[in-house]
Amino acid sequence: MSVEHPNSFWRATANSGRQFSVLDSDRSTETLIVGGGFTGLSTARELSSRGRECLVLEAHDIGWGASGRNGGFAVPRFKMNYSALALKYGHEVAHALYLQALEAVDSVAETVESYKIDCSFQRNGHLTPAHNHTALAGLQADVDWLRSRASDSTARIMGPDETFEALGTTVYQGAYLDPRGACLHPFNYTRGLAHGLEARGVPILTNSPVVSLHRDGDRWVARTPAGAVRAKSVVLATNAYTQPLLPKDDLSRRVVPVASSIITTRPLSSHERKKTLPCELPVTDTRRLVSYFRILPTGQLMFGGRGDITGRRDDPAVYRTLERQLALTYPHLKGIEIEERWAGMVAVTLDSFPHIGKLDDNVFYALGYGGRGVALSSLMGRRLAALVSGERIRPGPMGDDNFTTVPFHAWRRTGMRIMARYYQIRDRFER
Ligand SMILES: Cc1cc2nc3c(=O)[nH]c(=O)nc-3n(C[C@H](O)[C@H](O)[C@H](O)COP(=O)(O)OP(=O)(O)OC[C@H]3O[C@@H](n4cnc5c(N)ncnc54)[C@H](O)[C@@H]3O)c2cc1C
Repeated sequence: MSVEHPNSFWRATANSGRQFSVLDSDRSTETLIVGGGFTGLSTARELSSRGRECLVLEAHDIGWGASGRNGGFAVPRFKMNYSALALKYGHEVAHALYLQALEAVDSVAETVESYKIDCSFQRNGHLTPAHNHTALAGLQADVDWLRSRASDSTARIMGPDETFEALGTTVYQGAYLDPRGACLHPFNYTRGLAHGLEARGVPILTNSPVVSLHRDGDRWVARTPAGAVRAKSVVLATNAYTQPLLPKDDLSRRVVPVASSIITTRPLSSHERKKTLPCELPVTDTRRLVSYFRILPTGQLMFGGRGDITGRRDDPAVYRTLERQLALTYPHLKGIEIEERWAGMVAVTLDSFPHIGKLDDNVFYALGYGGRGVALSSLMGRRLAALVSGERIRPGPMGDDNFTTVPFHAWRRTGMRIMARYYQIRDRFER
């Protein structure tokens, strides 16, 4: 049974396009991809460009998951600073991660270009403002690390005055500007990619949830309510919506699904526009409970962050935390009319890295992007296609070593509420 898309800004401004078909008979293919979001479709794109056969099964509609609901920011860095990563894993590993973060954004740009996807893709940069002095020192250490260890002087720190001029708010101490950051219309990107794949002969089948996966000789058989697919390999690209499909399948317990929520204001007046994010770049701040925002082409302010982290409730009250945070950032917008409110689930891992690996013989997965999946899922799609093709990959800390189940997973909702409160206090009072 299909579940409707949320009433998001992205849905309201979506390009028109044909509906996808349902799996209504038994099929066979070389690689079955379960999940029709960025990860699944990026894997299909890479397999298709390698001339390999694949088929995508999506439980609901294309872009129904986080891929059709997110902020649309392709951020060329991880949540953790490179300098901190270098301390933890050594400079060589940090350097490999840095290259992958850049490749991730480049791969999105390349997909938009080669598939001619109409998704308002803009690569003007991304800002990471620091919510306190410690966070600013971390960003400065990153710029220093990039210069000394990667000979890369593209990113730079903006001081408090320049940050105020760019953002129109005094809540940040400074900011990290990387001109390689990008933003896009995520729903149009996801649907455009799926239509492009269909045009290249990749079957994209929606309203076709895989309910079980079992072995039959040297093939896997995925059952849906109206048909089955036999495949040599399977890619699980179900991220925060992962449910066990195999016997002894613990993938869903290796991540914690957390809701991220977004509100949009009414279009701002020209006076409000001058005072609200005048630089018009996408912004993701350094808080543990992150705020992210941008000006939309309609002149509305989109503001995202924590609403109800469990994603269980769906009423305007859930979004009040977000409205308060918006008013703290832009006091002149306090009480402004909110036009759209929506939420989706991100998958959080214990080490804040996404992970890619093998669950069983010829069954691969990639998931756990937190709030960094727009670009990283595109990278993971490339790597998943390499794994399916029998190649070795070097994901470093993003591999499956030590990617085990989250302790006390059954109590995750209580744990998340406690952690969210704790992070909120640290974000507010740490200097
Ligand atoms: C509100 C919000 C804002 C965000 N903002 C940003 C941002 O600005 N920048 C950024 O980098 N990241 C952001 N993210 C994170 C990013 O959207 C995700 O990391 C990314 O979309 C994950 O893509 P995915 O394809 O792995 O998962 P999804 O897009 O969630 O797709 C998984 C799909 O699998 C399907 N599925 C599940 N089980 C089955 C089954 N058994 N059979 C068939 N299909 C199945 C689901 O229906 C779903 O459509 C945000 C997320 C949210 C929710």
